[in-house]
Amino acid sequence: MGRALWIGLALLGSATCLAVLVLRPAWLIRWVLQPLLPEVLFCARGRSRRVAITIDDGPSWAVTPGQPTSLELLDLLRRLRVPATFFVIGEHLDHGAPQFVARALADGHALGNHLQRDQIFACLDRRAFLQQLDSTEERLCHAAAPRPLPLRWLRPGGGWVHLPMLRWVQARGYRTVLGSVFPWDTFHPPLAFQRWFVGANVHPGAILVLHDRPDTIAATLATLEAVVPDLQRRGYAVVALDDLLADGPDPLADG
Ligand SMILES: [Zn+2]
Repeated sequence: MGRALWIGLALLGSATCLAVLVLRPAWLIRWVLQPLLPEVLFCARGRSRRVAITIDDGPSWAVTPGQPTSLELLDLLRRLRVPATFFVIGEHLDHGAPQFVARALADGHALGNHLQRDQIFACLDRRAFLQQLDSTEERLCHAAAPRPLPLRWLRPGGGWVHLPMLRWVQARGYRTVLGSVFPWDTFHPPLAFQRWFVGANVHPGAILVLHDRPDTIAATLATLEAVVPDLQRRGYAVVALDDLLADGPDPLADG
């Protein structure tokens, strides 16, 4: 009887921890991960209600006729009047709308390096990793030409990092960015969940992570359409990543 009770309590405790990690991870990221790993930007400090939107894996393309793509995403952001940072995959520039990079820059968005393929590259050695980084940078600059493209942000695939990788990234003049509010959109939860998740986890200095892929673009459009007004009603301003950091001391600068 006593043993069954302990097993029951252990199971309940584990389930609670798991639920907190899945449903309310932002506090852990903000108060534990960010101070532990200042080389990575998960979120900004400061108390003012500002958030940055980051969108990974684009530019996306229509798999079926009429499907929305990154261009509809740019239209929506323009209508909502909010900036975003697009973490672009080098090889997706071959499939996505050729005008995406120029239009995103003209609309005032920032671009980040998300390496050549949508994969976890934490197992690559320095040379192979930097090849990914450099070739993506080259493609991005080519797509942006003749406009100069200052690239500052890098997000490695799947969010997997290790300390040597962070040093390689820094040596190339980039900052590694992950995020603090990821509503599990790549797992295709219902819109209501994504909307609830963002509202429950948002905090001053939050970095929201969404995805611009053929399988997520429709949900990303719907989520942004709902979440941006939700955040604004709560007094949050959506700002560019650079402006988010201007709000409070950069953890790296302190660290
Ligand atoms: Zn990705």
